[in-house]
Amino acid sequence: MDTVLELEHLTVRFDTKAGNVSAVTDLNLTIQRGECIGIVGESGSGKSQTFLASLGLLAGNGKTMGRALFRGQDLLKMNRDELDKLRGDRVTMIFQDSGTSLTPHMRIGEQLMEVLVAHKGHAPDVARKRVLEVMESMRIPDIEKRLTQYPHEFSGGMRQRVMIAMALVCQPDLLIADEPTTALDVTVQAQILNLFRALKAHTKSSIVLITHDLGVVAGLCDRVVVMYGGRMVEEAPVADIFASPKHPYTQGLLRCMPRLDQLLDTDLEAIPGQPPNLQKLPKGCAFAERCTQAIERCHTERPILRQLSPTRRAACHLLDAA
Ligand code: SF4
Repeated sequence: MDTVLELEHLTVRFDTKAGNVSAVTDLNLTIQRGECIGIVGESGSGKSQTFLASLGLLAGNGKTMGRALFRGQDLLKMNRDELDKLRGDRVTMIFQDSGTSLTPHMRIGEQLMEVLVAHKGHAPDVARKRVLEVMESMRIPDIEKRLTQYPHEFSGGMRQRVMIAMALVCQPDLLIADEPTTALDVTVQAQILNLFRALKAHTKSSIVLITHDLGVVAGLCDRVVVMYGGRMVEEAPVADIFASPKHPYTQGLLRCMPRLDQLLDTDLEAIPGQPPNLQKLPKGCAFAERCTQAIERCHTERPILRQLSPTRRAACHLLDAA
């Protein structure tokens, strides 16, 4: 095993005027080299905060506890300079509309080369060669001309490709992509997901794909973690999640997904109800109010995340006897 990231009892809290918000609670997760892992859940499930906290990118009122070991070094103990050196080089993160974070008055080529010069100390000709290489792998046409252009001359999909190129230019050990295709139209989404597939096939980078859409992880991720109310509720190899989801919430997410073998006009079943209030999490299972399979115990006792097999974990009282 070659572990890239290990989260141990990671817990994230926010102090707000209205009280404490429990964004992530006691998360344990390991990511191996070259592995692609999908983190799936609704908004507010803690999936993004987990990785923002690990990289020291939380809002000022956030507090992180536990450990986030990157190659054995605890990111939560690093100072700002150490984190700055690591981020953008060995660990990179891209966001839903990260094209907007490109510097508007700098040419694309200069921005990409600047990353290499800052992190790797490359000479300009070496940096340019690497930039051309990575832009080509992003299937950006007319590269020489594109490098001389400014961000506003690129479409949304093209800017997102540039951001992925920027995230990859230093050949990171870990790429964290937070809803990287959500703001894009369906065709561009498919193109970007194909780029991730190619990246997975041709590099040793580990990829974390954060998404609310289970469909995005199919055919790309090796393993899926489902989060609800700030906790992991299920973890399994991707094929097992689709073949036999164990947690009622995962089962609900799957029922929300369009399927090729269903008639086009079949209504998709949304999960009724709202995600839990993170300021007042219930005593029992956080999903109990929305769960069609809830039993009495679910309202009084929180289910423990159990190891169901060497590769599967889930937290639901119904699995206790399984
Ligand atoms: Fe549903 Fe109970 Fe399982 Fe929670 S513990 S998912 S409420 S059955």
